[in-house]
Amino acid sequence: MAAKRVLIVGGVAGGASCAARLRRLDERAEIVIFERGPDVSFANCGLPYYVGGVIQDRQKLLVATPERFRDWLRVEVRVRHEVQKIDRANRSIEVQNLQSGGTVTEPYDVLVLAPGAAPVRPPLPGIDLPGIFCVRNLEDVDRIQAWIGSRKAERAVVVGGGYIGLEMVENLSRRGLHVTVLELLDQVMPTMDPEMVAPVHAELRSKGVDLQLSNPVAAFEPASLPAPSGRVAEGEGLTVVARDGRRFAADVVILAVGVRPETRLAEESGLEIGSTGGIRVDDQMRTSDPAIYAVGDAVEVRDFVTGRPALIPLAGPANRQGRIAADVICGRDARFRGSQGTCVVGVFDLTLAMTGATEKALQAAGIPCEKSYTHSLDHAGYYPGAGMMALKLLYAPIDGRLLGAQAVGTAGAAKRIDVLAMAIQKKATVYDLEEAELCYAPQYGSAKDAVNMAGFVAGNVLRGDVDPVHWTEWKACWRAPTEGRAPAAGGSGGEMPLVVDVRDAAEVAKGAVPGTVNVPLPELRARLGELPRDREIWVHCGVGQRSYYAARILKQNGFQVRNLSGGMKTYKLHE
Ligand code: FAD
Repeated sequence: MAAKRVLIVGGVAGGASCAARLRRLDERAEIVIFERGPDVSFANCGLPYYVGGVIQDRQKLLVATPERFRDWLRVEVRVRHEVQKIDRANRSIEVQNLQSGGTVTEPYDVLVLAPGAAPVRPPLPGIDLPGIFCVRNLEDVDRIQAWIGSRKAERAVVVGGGYIGLEMVENLSRRGLHVTVLELLDQVMPTMDPEMVAPVHAELRSKGVDLQLSNPVAAFEPASLPAPSGRVAEGEGLTVVARDGRRFAADVVILAVGVRPETRLAEESGLEIGSTGGIRVDDQMRTSDPAIYAVGDAVEVRDFVTGRPALIPLAGPANRQGRIAADVICGRDARFRGSQGTCVVGVFDLTLAMTGATEKALQAAGIPCEKSYTHSLDHAGYYPGAGMMALKLLYAPIDGRLLGAQAVGTAGAAKRIDVLAMAIQKKATVYDLEEAELCYAPQYGSAKDAVNMAGFVAGNVLRGDVDPVHWTEWKACWRAPTEGRAPAAGGSGGEMPLVVDVRDAAEVAKGAVPGTVNVPLPELRARLGELPRDREIWVHCGVGQRSYYAARILKQNGFQVRNLSGGMKTYKLHE
């Protein structure tokens, strides 16, 4: 049989993975990568850290070069070559050499599209003014570095609070710039549930970032304000006008308002496009044309949990899809399981990570879910340096199957989300988390790890040992008590449940939830007579552990009781 000619459009995550895997499986195939830019296989995920100076050597961002592809893999890489057109009938592509301007036609047996996704540039007034940058490739960050350096920039505006925006905020701050963030929504990291990013808002503000939520950019204008030091000459900077009319002076603007799949080639050649705007592929990464595969940010995937079509532009799925496409091209029965959106982002001293569906996504998909909040130390409290992380678990109320998880706190948050990501992929339940045997030594974890704790709490609920209630429900039904006083323990009934704080008086003095009464846990058994039997009681404490004990005492004494999930720490997330 003649050797296959496989052409690949795009030579970074998905395209490069596909080429390398193809060669390992088929020594005879002719493999050519066409890449529009000057580099292949570069580390786009490292770009913000190059701007911030954490990664100083630009070369380190070049994971593999065209020479390495040639020498190690016998894969031909043509950089600065843009594929312009697909002729499906004749199985060929038209490629333009961006340096010479010349165009050639290249025949293929198999074509792999891995063109990625392009940053969105909203058509706002002034969007094309100099000093406004997106971050996609090394050329972008070279331009940003040159601009910041030559102008000795002091003020940056970052438009968009997704993970690329946040990474740029951190790195521009690290370089000493004052950063303002303009975000359309009332939260950063819109892929997560709002309460789980509340600590990120606090973290950004504590680091001096001017975080403007629900205040998108409306226009860009040439600057009318010189920098405080006068180093940027008037007229060289920008004024960013927000929707509320406020004006922010900027020496540099970073646009990070999302990405859009690059589908032009696919659309123009009549390949099917999915409802989300990505190239439609099956679970073997085949497009509507059996000779053409597509992988990475350009494709529509199936959300692993909701089953809905989705765009999930992340490096892990792009690499795996490239590998799967290569397997299928070489006759193996590989299949993509769908994307879980597992991701992690560092924001100064906080780590934020998630996997699977969020509560809002489950609601939108009409999938019933229960949730738990736990607050655990990332390693044994007696070992120096332990820090807290909040973990939100979403699971099916019927059988406890895991649906999603989000964590915020110290770096240990990422490890827990990794464990939970695998659990979700294996369709595990909260009961499996109770039994998970995870590594432990005091500097790394706890004998009852945060993952086990989340499982115990959810398992207690599903077994009926404790009935949970969430702060959102408390917010919805709480009304300020008359005369500004909290209702007394045992006070007369009414539709409002009695909320009992079982923390010690000293803790309560430092801050309490309005309308609660304090019955410290050690006193509870002796004070049962003060509590109403005709009214539901909601108990809470610091993180939900003592209130769980209290709930068990009350339940076994015949009270109607529910435990406010996650205690004061979760209350503060919802504040
Ligand atoms: P890309 O890696 O974008 O590669 C597509 C390539 O195709 C491009 O180089 C483009 O020039 C080329 N191309 C397009 N059209 C043509 C054409 N017609 N002809 C020839 N070439 C063409 N993901 C994570 O999971 N974690 C992270 O921490 C993370 N950080 C990121 C930080 C930044 C700043 C950016 C920009 C992305 C980050 N990502 C991260 C996302 C991740 O990089 C992408 O999901 C991944 O690179 C997608 O791979 P891809 O192969 O689909 O597309």
